[in-house]
Amino acid sequence: METKREFLKKLGLLTVGGMVAGSVSQAKAVSSVTSSPAAKKKVGLQLYSLGRELTQDVPGGLKKVAQIGYSTAELAGYGGGKFYGAELAEFKKMAADAGLKVTGSHVNPPVRKYTAENRGEIADFWKKAVEDHAKLGVITLVQPGQPSIESNDDAKIVCEVFNQAGEIAKAAGIKWGYHNHSGEFQKAVKEEDKGRRGVQGDIIYDLLLNGTDPKLVFFEMDVYWTVMGQQDPLDYFEKYAGRFPVLHIKDRSILGQSGMMNFENIFKKAYEKGLDEFYVELEGIRSGMTQFEGVKLCFDYLNKAPFVK
Ligand code: MG
Repeated sequence: METKREFLKKLGLLTVGGMVAGSVSQAKAVSSVTSSPAAKKKVGLQLYSLGRELTQDVPGGLKKVAQIGYSTAELAGYGGGKFYGAELAEFKKMAADAGLKVTGSHVNPPVRKYTAENRGEIADFWKKAVEDHAKLGVITLVQPGQPSIESNDDAKIVCEVFNQAGEIAKAAGIKWGYHNHSGEFQKAVKEEDKGRRGVQGDIIYDLLLNGTDPKLVFFEMDVYWTVMGQQDPLDYFEKYAGRFPVLHIKDRSILGQSGMMNFENIFKKAYEKGLDEFYVELEGIRSGMTQFEGVKLCFDYLNKAPFVK
């Protein structure tokens, strides 16, 4: 089996050329930004990136996010009918006061293993979540956690549950989506092939894409986790055009610094295939830097990048 390094090299994500091109274009963007200081791109942030730095002071944190330059936010703090521990109206006011538009939210249902018996419970969960988020005014509601999938049969039930969640959301005018990590790029096999040698199996992500209704379920691809799953985001944008209207733009740490993610190619192809919205996500922050400092560097990188509209 090829090593991760060989794989990344093959994808062209680990080339010196790519890194040089990145720094040249960054330099060009610096001059254009300087000549037009008012120019600010529409960049979103997944608030999970801030961790405790946000949750210890939500109103102040939301203001800081807007001050950095982010215009939209995707939440990761819904639970028990509340948003980051606040009642809906109170949270709505905090975001409005900060001048931040809440366009999306990450929410996981209470169970990981979907069965015929608990489908009703999951649907009820989404009804309540959709109702609360419709009042908040989000455009998208996204499930970020992978349900348990070991076989094609498991994937089939998951797709049915996803379609149903999509239907519930659609009735309230919200788009429902699924966000991946790297586990979705493992393979599932048919029940009868379990334990058999030489069975190839199917990539779980492909089963989800193929088994869900494009009118009900979109895919918020996390481009970093896709690469970590040894797949090329560009291949998916090409093969499943229109299924990726929203992306998570993420790198190993600060955007653009690892040299392993070719964001220029990612944005170009994603726009060509229907990208409308994206959120920066930052995990794996370097020591000696706050999360807020990290997300500022990420904003600056995208705001200056000529390939970001
Ligand atoms: Mg993500």
